[in-house]
Amino acid sequence: MMPRRIVILGAGFGGLTTALELARRLRREPRAEVLLLDAHNFHLFSPMLHEVTSGSVEPRHVVWPIRGLGRRTRFTFERRQVRAIDLNARKIATDRDEIGYEYLVIALGSTTNYYGVRGAAERTFAFKTLPDAVRLRNHILEMFEQAVDERDPERRRRLLTFVLVGAGCTGVELATELHDLARRTLVRHYPVLAAGEVRIVLAEATGRIIPCVSDQLAALGLTKLREKGIEVRLHAPVVAVGDGLVEFQDGEKLTTDTVIWTAGVKATPVVEALPVEKDKLGRVIVNEHLEIPPFPGVFAIGDAAHSRDSRLQDALPPTAQVAMQQARAVAHNIARDLRGRTKEPFTYRHRGDLVSLGIGDGVGEIAGLAFSGLPAWLLWRSVFLAKLVGWKNRIRVALDWLVGAFFERDVAKLEW
Ligand SMILES: Cc1cc2nc3c(=O)[nH]c(=O)nc-3n(C[C@H](O)[C@H](O)[C@H](O)COP(=O)(O)OP(=O)(O)OC[C@H]3O[C@@H](n4cnc5c(N)ncnc54)[C@H](O)[C@@H]3O)c2cc1C
Repeated sequence: MMPRRIVILGAGFGGLTTALELARRLRREPRAEVLLLDAHNFHLFSPMLHEVTSGSVEPRHVVWPIRGLGRRTRFTFERRQVRAIDLNARKIATDRDEIGYEYLVIALGSTTNYYGVRGAAERTFAFKTLPDAVRLRNHILEMFEQAVDERDPERRRRLLTFVLVGAGCTGVELATELHDLARRTLVRHYPVLAAGEVRIVLAEATGRIIPCVSDQLAALGLTKLREKGIEVRLHAPVVAVGDGLVEFQDGEKLTTDTVIWTAGVKATPVVEALPVEKDKLGRVIVNEHLEIPPFPGVFAIGDAAHSRDSRLQDALPPTAQVAMQQARAVAHNIARDLRGRTKEPFTYRHRGDLVSLGIGDGVGEIAGLAFSGLPAWLLWRSVFLAKLVGWKNRIRVALDWLVGAFFERDVAKLEW
């Protein structure tokens, strides 16, 4: 009998969790075959990317090789760049071959959304991948190296001004981490530069920061950022990014050699090209079973999907927490369907959110309880350490943090 093939696209939070859950649930189901595809042979733990940029955590410690996981469980991994999905023919076109499926889980994540802002895609630093984090780190170190030799005060100011666009969790966590790196470590290595010369500007189009937490915690976070000296600009949409400058809607122009885009995400081109109903971000609209109508057995989860939440009266946010819960629900329903049982609707259970605000500081909510300052930061570290894939990485990150508590961050600019 032909095996019943379940293909999962993307080995991020949603895809990898689906593969692991299916492998567990289908242990005694020899007719089912699980195939996981991704363009990279590793899983990236993106919530720690800002620590990679600041040098608190080593790049290799936030990635996990997928082939090692597949060897121990019951799924096959193949490295493939997915080019297109033919939902009618039930086939996936990849850079190497065409793959058929009986069940399909689309977990291809998202890509940076520049909202059509002039010059943003060409002239800003994206912050989504491991190379993005390392590239940004090298650039920041390069700015300090150049600033040391720069005699022209205007040019020096431009080199030491760092602008982040978008004050969601990613923008805020990165801004505070850059603040710690620049003001606590780099100025000690470059004594001719004064801490006050480093300017970190966080521009936000709306009237509040970190939308994932309550209004009170967001306001507290804002106060904390401003106390640290981070210049937060609310109601300040960026309308253009030029060569060495960023332009705001009110006409103000700020000169800088560093603009980091943390303003939002949209669907990847493969998902955007699907001939089904999508939202304005290009994400496919899924039903209560996370299936794409009218294609039974084809699911979309995580950042690739628009899944409505009755509590929010809106789409679920693009977070790892959502992707992983959806992955478990999809694995559960595929296993039920294979056994001839009816599928069950997905219900999202929000566990909370934690935002790190640099060393020893944070804000967040867990199970309805609010935290701030050191307790929030310690919770952030404990929760995310526990969520890292693999004990080897948990130990390596814990050791990175331990070393960071006693020694300065490494400021070597590694380039080959
Ligand atoms: C810097 C940063 C910090 C974040 N911090 C948090 C946080 O603190 N908490 C939180 O809950 N969420 C956080 N998020 C969001 C979270 O990472 C995403 O919501 C989550 O990764 C979505 O999971 P996913 O499975 O949908 O996609 P992803 O985890 O992004 O996985 C998508 C996978 O698809 C692969 N892929 C994409 N296109 C193709 C293709 N054409 N062919 C083959 N493979 C492809 C990619 O290589 C990737 O492995 C953060 C994101 C970033 C960028």
